[in-house]
Formats: sequence, C-alpha cells, structure tokens
Amino acid sequence: MRTIDQLQLTNSFAALGEAFHTPVRPTPLADPRLVSLSHAAAALIDLDPREAERPELVRRLSGLELPPGARPVAALYAGHQFGHYVPQLGDGRAILLGEVTNERGERWELQLKGAGLTPYSRDGDGRAVLRSTIREYLCSEAMHALGIPTTRALCLFASDEEVYRKRIEPGAILVRMAPSHVRFGSFEVFFYRGHHDRLETLASYLIAHHFPALAEAPEPHLALLEEVIRLTAELIARWQLVGFAHGVMNTDNMSMLGLTLDYGPYGFMDAFDPGFVCNHSDRWGRYAFDRQPAIGLWNLTCLAQAMLPLLDPENGEAAAEKAQAALAGYQPSFDRAYAAGMCAKLGLREERAGDMDLVLDLLRRMATNRVDYTNLFRALGRVRSDGPEGDQAARDLFIDRAAFDQWAGQYRQRLRAEQSKDPIRQRGMDRVNPRYVLRNYLAQQAIERAEQGDYGEVDRLLAVLSRPFDEQEGRAHYAAEPPEWGRALAVSCSS
Ligand code: AMP
Ligand code: MG
Repeated sequence: MRTIDQLQLTNSFAALGEAFHTPVRPTPLADPRLVSLSHAAAALIDLDPREAERPELVRRLSGLELPPGARPVAALYAGHQFGHYVPQLGDGRAILLGEVTNERGERWELQLKGAGLTPYSRDGDGRAVLRSTIREYLCSEAMHALGIPTTRALCLFASDEEVYRKRIEPGAILVRMAPSHVRFGSFEVFFYRGHHDRLETLASYLIAHHFPALAEAPEPHLALLEEVIRLTAELIARWQLVGFAHGVMNTDNMSMLGLTLDYGPYGFMDAFDPGFVCNHSDRWGRYAFDRQPAIGLWNLTCLAQAMLPLLDPENGEAAAEKAQAALAGYQPSFDRAYAAGMCAKLGLREERAGDMDLVLDLLRRMATNRVDYTNLFRALGRVRSDGPEGDQAARDLFIDRAAFDQWAGQYRQRLRAEQSKDPIRQRGMDRVNPRYVLRNYLAQQAIERAEQGDYGEVDRLLAVLSRPFDEQEGRAHYAAEPPEWGRALAVSCSS
C-alpha cells in the first residue's frame, strides 16, 4: 500500500509528443475538499484508502500540487457529434497527469476532470459541476461492480467555487482512471488532417501498451480494428442487458479499449421503454436505448474509415474491403454476447432455437406494461419450473397479469425442457440480474444532499452499488421504483 506521496507517475502517452496533446497545468478549485474516495479504485493503484484522511491527498490530486513524476497534458481528438464531424475537440476540461503502475504491473492513467481551461476548451470553462461529477463517480464504480467495462473513478473533490450552467452550481473535480483514455476520435483527427504517420504512431502505441498479443498478428492494424469492433459489440450488448443508455454516443466518447467512457446524461431504465432517450438535449432520439447497437456500428464505421490508411497505405480499395470484412463481424459479436447474456438472465443453461423469441416476447410485454426492467429480471429468479407458486413478485409488476401468465407458461415449459434445477438456476440468476442499479432518482437524492454539504449519501450509494447482486439488509429502498418526482428527471448535456 502506498501513500499519495509514494505514487510515482510515468508518462507514456505524454511521451508520444505534442502532435497528440498539449502540456497544461491544472487550475485548482478554491478550497477543495474530498467528497468520497472509492476504495476499490484506490486498490488498483495500491493507494492506501486511509490517505482519504490526509490533506496531502487533496493537494496532490485536486491540482494544487502535482504528484511526483506528473507531466500533465490535454489530449487532442476530434469526433462525430450527433452524426456531424467536428474537426477539433480534445480534452476541454480533462487533464491527464500520467500513469501509475501497480504491483501487478498494470498501468492506470490518472485524469483530472474539471481542472480548468485547456487549449481545447473552445467556449467552455474547463470546469465540471458537483452534480455531474457525482453522477460520473457513482456510475463508473457501479458499472464496474456490474461487470461492465468502464473507466474508473478514484475520488472527487467539491468546492464552493461557482460554476455557471443553467443555474449557478458548485464546481468539482473527478479523478478518473483507465488504462487508456484514447478514443475513436483520437484516430479521426489525424485521418481528416491527412497525418497518416500519426495514425501509425497511435496504433503502435495502443498495440504495444494495451493489445500486445496483436503485435504477432499477420496484420496488426487490422487485428486492432477487429478487436475494437468485438470489444465495442460486447460492451454495448452489456449495456442493453442491464438497461443502460449512454446518452451521448459521439465517436469522441467511444473508447478504443471498449470501456464505457464519458458519463454525461446517461440513464438506467426504470420502466422498460425500448425507445428510452435519457438525454434531454437529444431531441431526435439518435441515442435512444434501442438504437445503441446500431449506433455502435455507425461509430465503428467512422473509426474504420479513419484507420483505412493503416490497413493498406497503397491500395484504397483493398483497405476498404478489409474494413468492410472487419465491420461485418460486429453484428455476430453483438448477437452472441446479447443472446448469451439473456440466456443467463433467464437462467437457461444452454441456448436453444426459439430462446430469442421468448426473450423478445417478454420484452414486448414488459414495454406494453411499463414494467421495471431491473426488478422484473430479479423477480424472475423466484419463478419455479413446476408451477406458479413463485410468480407473484414478477407477476405483480404487470398491469395486465394475464400478459405475464401467458409468458410464464412458455418460460416454465422451456425450463422443464432442460430439467432446470430451481435452486441452482435461481442462484445463478441472482449473480447476473442486479438487485441495485444507479437509478436516476437515487443519484439525484445524493446530489441534492451533497450540494448542501452532506456527502454521506454518496458514500452509502457507492457501498450499495459496489455489491449490486447481493441482497443487502436494510437497503431494500435502494431497489425501489422511482417515486413520482423521480420518473421524468431531465438530464442534459450541460454538465
Ligand atoms: P462531451 O460530449 O460532454 O464528452 O464533451 C464534448 C467536448 O466538449 C469535449 O471536447 C469536452 O472536453 C468539451 N467540454 C465539455 N464541457 C466542457 C467545459 N465545461 N469546458 C470545456 N470543455 C468542455
Ligand atoms: Mg466527451
């Protein structure tokens, strides 16, 4: 275990040179204080969680001073935002301090989000507000606990410094971690500027540091594209399985490592609605829940285009054919991951013909009845294969009880067809169907208290969401459907 002063940073991304980023010093917030520290994230960099008690942690990680070895930079990238190419974005309010290597030899980038202006801030202020910072902090750690690849969140700091959004809000800084924050847009920027040598440098960097096995492939760059396609397909399948909508799937928010990245106006669904749009600013529903799989492919197509010069620098047609073939792997990867995940959610040991029809039929009935997504799957774990005795929890979530009964009849038949053992199946289902997810209204309650200076609810929520599959004594209210006020909370891009 290390103290904050013993965290020695290295700078492999910064070493790529100033074509890829711009050096920039963090601008500290006035009088920052620690709101919460994720012990699970701290463990990833061997940081002693007792450091939360020491002012050195605040000084070193909120931008007042730099940790030893830090070489802070803001990364350059571009991206397709809501379908339109924006030639320059970049870290407008994130600053990469460097990387910590833990005892297992794993490297974690430390990034400050909300630490002031960078050359890429455009008309932004380089700040993040407490509200959005709490949302990203809690969701990063909750997603990880759900087994979904994501950037992590080490800690967050609040301040009384005023930040102007729709209202005046307290400023905050999030310390984010990931093996790499490189995005699809990090490639796009060099493709559109015709800097093919930089594409090459970036691809080699990713392969060397994050996909070393691909260096042995006959065509490492093609293998990299194929790998990102597979990881992205599997990531989005997991989002669909848990009822998560990202909200802003622009290509600058798509991770080259297949991580959930840039939590903004995301949402976990309460009542199941396939067309769920969590982002209030997304007027046309481009990033609606049920469009995420197709948008994933659209975004990968942008990435593949940006990588064309790497696939065959001489022959454009050959490069395009390779890209097409790689992209053709997306849908099968998605379908495999989604089907396997749904079978697990229903407690089916093996996938059989007709299983996807059973799933789609259930989802249709859930949508018509606006059934709570998380609670329904959890309640299905109580259903018995021999009769309706265990149905009640699930059945009661349907307005039209008969709609559930019809489906449950088919489900029981399917369970009996593989001689499903109820207790074993139920235990397995409880390991994949969470009891607790970060419902919007839960985050909202923690935010409102934190804005009053009471950070306790942030820590309590973090603790609950760190064990999402466990029934937790005295915590049933964290699994409750939203109260009336919490059903239609508008979350927008402004953060
Ligand atoms: P997003 O879609 O929220 O991830 O952000 C899109 C772009 O806007 C990125 O380049 C961000 O760095 C930048 N950005 C967002 N908010 C701010 C802000 N308050 N100040 C500066 N840049 C920002
Ligand atoms: Mg972003």
